[in-house]
Amino acid sequence: MDYLLGDLRRTHYSSDISPEISGEEVLLMGWVHEIRDLGGIIFVIIRDRDGLIQVTAPSKKVDAEILADLRALRKESVVAIKGTAQEAGKAPNGVEIIPSKVKILNLANQPLPMDPTEKVKAEIDTRLNSRFLDLRKANVSAIFKIKANMLKTVRQYFDDNDIIEINTPKLVASATEGGTELFPITYFEKEAFLGQSPQLYKQMMMGAGFDKVFEIGQIFRAEEHDTLRHLNEAISIDMEASFKDDKDVMNILDGMITTVLQSTKENCAKELEILDYDLAAIPEGPFPEVKYDDAVDIVNSKGIDMEWGEDLSREAEKALGDTQEGFYFLTDWPTAIKPFYVVPYEDRPEISHAFDLMYKNLEISSGSTRMHDYDTLVAQMEQRNLNPDGFGAYLQAFKYGMPPHAGWGVGADRLAMVLTGVENIRETVLFPRDRHRLTP
Ligand code: ATP
Ligand code: MG
Repeated sequence: MDYLLGDLRRTHYSSDISPEISGEEVLLMGWVHEIRDLGGIIFVIIRDRDGLIQVTAPSKKVDAEILADLRALRKESVVAIKGTAQEAGKAPNGVEIIPSKVKILNLANQPLPMDPTEKVKAEIDTRLNSRFLDLRKANVSAIFKIKANMLKTVRQYFDDNDIIEINTPKLVASATEGGTELFPITYFEKEAFLGQSPQLYKQMMMGAGFDKVFEIGQIFRAEEHDTLRHLNEAISIDMEASFKDDKDVMNILDGMITTVLQSTKENCAKELEILDYDLAAIPEGPFPEVKYDDAVDIVNSKGIDMEWGEDLSREAEKALGDTQEGFYFLTDWPTAIKPFYVVPYEDRPEISHAFDLMYKNLEISSGSTRMHDYDTLVAQMEQRNLNPDGFGAYLQAFKYGMPPHAGWGVGADRLAMVLTGVENIRETVLFPRDRHRLTP
């Protein structure tokens, strides 16, 4: 079985190889990015998670057996190469490896379904069909390195602010906010649904006395339309805090986004460069606030018709977004178009303590102060034609000591769009699920 690793182990990633280690023996493992056989000399570019490194095999210096092995390689095959590092001005990183041992770990079939070296540009559908190959590209994997840093930073931020991580069920008996956008599933002899939001559970955790919680998890929504910002399975970063109101949790959100912007610039400079994206152009918090009342005027002043009380149309979001530099809060929404659990203003009940965080025309987050009074909550459900009987376990938590609380949910994939500058949410998800795609 000559395809096994045996005792070969990688000693260096491509990023560890620089002119300073000239003369050292190294063992690389990775994929064949390119092969150029000029007869008297063979160049093989090896790619690993971190980048590219050149293997140079002049026929005068290298054993015939090694030359034969290199000639047997095909693009995207997996290989282990032992050799000596040697300074070389023209090679990536300024170093090349003169091979002393080559082990082919797996040959790739040819032709490839797509070209990971991007010599031939592929459409998003072709790319997603062969996503494992697409993900080998530096400008694609950079997105996921930035997203991983984002989630790590978010967890650290929550921990620094004494906010506890929770996990709530994704198999649920009823809807969060009504019957739309739900994926029904068969749960033994019952009908159940995939969770569209951890909303009800994180609120119940306020009743459980956990004070400040967060969850990073999947949400499932049966979105009808194919858009560049909706998927049917997305990641939500949810936060809920007791003894706090909308303004308090907006501050927590503001701080989280700013911390993520800073950490991305600090830790992902290489990835931002690969993406050719200037994240420093996005202003950090505190972010400006626009009241819904004013938003209606701004939208109308741009020639887009909008009545007070309506949700923003896509055109309205764009017109408003164009007046903003980056992130901004849209606050004081009409009560009637927000979910049953928001708290209306006492002096003006037609508007609520509800906010969205926008990035230009992209909604990143929705949040609010939550109604914690049982009777009012039930009345608000009924006003929206929701049957309180369907919310038994949730409502129960409001009968026996529910504290005032507030919270928000951030679309993690949408935030990743902002951090990477991509226009299509599919780019920020490894294996996206949309109306037309359930595989891979
Ligand atoms: P939109 O109006 O953009 O459809 P929403 O108001 O229905 O979003 P919320 O219920 O407020 O979404 O969910 C909170 C956040 O989760 C949103 O601000 C968004 O960032 C993200 N989100 C919601 N639905 C999706 C989806 N289908 N795909 C990706 N992210 C989503
Ligand atoms: Mg929303």
